Amino acid sequence: MFTLDPDEQPTQWYNIVADLPTPPPPPLHPGTGQPVGPQDLEPLFPPELIAQEVTTDRFVDIPEPVLDVYRQYRATPLYRARRWEAKLGTPARIYYKYEGVSPAGSHKTNTAVPQVYYNSLHGVKRLTTETGAGQWGTALAYATALFGVDCEVWQVGASFDTKPARRTLIEVFGGTVHRSPSRLTEAGKAFPEGHPGSLGIAISEAVEVAAQDPETKYALGSVLNHVLLHQTVIGEETLKQLAKAGEAHVDLVVGCAGGGSNFAGLSFPFLRENLVNGKSTRLLAVEPASCPTLTRGEYRYDFGDTAGMTPLMKMYTLGHDFVPSPIHAGGLRYHGMAPLVSHAVCEGMIDAVALHQSECFTAAVEFARTQGVVPAPESSHAIAQARIEALAAKEAGEEKVIVIGLSGHGLLELGAYEKFLAGELEDDPLSEAALTASLQSVPTVG
Ligand SMILES: *Cc1c(COP(=O)(O)O)cnc(C)c1O
Repeated sequence: MFTLDPDEQPTQWYNIVADLPTPPPPPLHPGTGQPVGPQDLEPLFPPELIAQEVTTDRFVDIPEPVLDVYRQYRATPLYRARRWEAKLGTPARIYYKYEGVSPAGSHKTNTAVPQVYYNSLHGVKRLTTETGAGQWGTALAYATALFGVDCEVWQVGASFDTKPARRTLIEVFGGTVHRSPSRLTEAGKAFPEGHPGSLGIAISEAVEVAAQDPETKYALGSVLNHVLLHQTVIGEETLKQLAKAGEAHVDLVVGCAGGGSNFAGLSFPFLRENLVNGKSTRLLAVEPASCPTLTRGEYRYDFGDTAGMTPLMKMYTLGHDFVPSPIHAGGLRYHGMAPLVSHAVCEGMIDAVALHQSECFTAAVEFARTQGVVPAPESSHAIAQARIEALAAKEAGEEKVIVIGLSGHGLLELGAYEKFLAGELEDDPLSEAALTASLQSVPTVG
C-alpha cells in the first residue's frame, strides 16, 4: 500500500482546459443558442463554482476548510493487487486507487465538500440534487451536515425501490429523499407514478425546485467542469504514489465512466503528463453496454436533463429522453458524458469500451476474493476491463503497468451481488432500434 505524508498532499486542483490543444466547445443557452454567460448560472450555483466552471487557470487552490475535511480520508490508498495478479498469472503490475475509504464510500465526497462549502459562504439554506445509485446523495448529505445546510435528494425510482439502505444512509446524514419521478415537481408529474425514473428526470426535478427558491441552490455530482476539477485530487495523488512505488512509466489508466467525473479525476493529471511532459499512458474509459454513451452515442449538443432545463452541452449523448434499463451500476446510467471527457475522446486523447454487467460482476467477485475489497458495481467495470488487459499482457508476455480507478465500495449494493451469485443477473445491451429512437430527442443546433 502506498500513502502520502500530510505535507505531500495536493493543495490545488488541476484544470485540464489549460493544457488542451483546442478549447472544448462552450455550453449554449437553449433559448438564444449563444454561449452561456456566468449570469445564466447564478440562480443555480454560487460565484466560486461558476468561476471554476469557466476558468482557464492551470491550477486552482483548494480552500483550507475543504483541505481540512479531505485530510480525514485523503490521501486515499494506492494498492498493488498482488494476489489478484497471481491469480490471473499475469506479468502485469496492477495498482488500484481506492476511493471507497471516503465517508460516503465513493469519490463523490471529493466534490460534495467543496460544493457545499462554497454555497455555505453565501447563506444558501438548502441544496437540491439528484442521485442515481445513491452515492452522490450520500456524499452531498454528509457534506451538508458538516456545513449546516439542508439537503433534498431526488433518487432515481429504480434505485429507490431496490436500495433502501442508501436512503437510510442519506437520512442518517440529515438529508431528505424523494423517489423520482415525484409528485412534487412539474417535471416529475409528466411521468406516471411508479415509473423507474432516470438521472435526466431526477436532475430536472432538483433544478426546478432550486430555480424557484432564492435560498435554495442546486448541486450536480458529475459532468460539469468544476466537478471534474475537484476530482483531480485522485490523479494528482496517484502520480505521487506511483513515484513512491518506483513506477516511472504507466501503460494504462482505466476507470468507469457514467458522467465522467471519477474517470476524469484520475486520468486528467495523466493526460497532462501525456500532453506536456512527453508521457504515453493510454487512458481508457469503461461504460455499460446498456448505456453506451461514448461508444455508441453521437457527439452533439444536447440537454443535461430530460425536461430540457439545463444549458445545451456538446457531449456524447444517447438523447436526453433516454431511459436506460435498470442495471445495477446505477451511477453509470446517464444519457450524456462530461463535455471535457467527450472532447478528449473526440480528439483521440482518451479511448472507450463498453462491457456487459455479468462480466463485470464476475471480475468483481474474483477481485473481492483476492484483494478483500467489494467494488461498487460501477467500479467493477474498470476491474473487468483491467482483467482483460492483464490477461492480454499474459498472452503477449508483457510487463504492463495498469492503474485502476476503484471509485467506491459495494457494501451497500449487496443486493446486486446476491442476484449475481444466484445466477439471476441479466445483460440488457441497448438495441439498435432503442438507440435510434432515443437519439431523436437530441435537438438540432446551429
Ligand atoms: C457515481 C459513481 C460513478 C459514476 O459517476 P462518474 O461521474 O462517471 O464518476 C462511478 N463509481 C461510483 C462508485 C459512483 O458513486
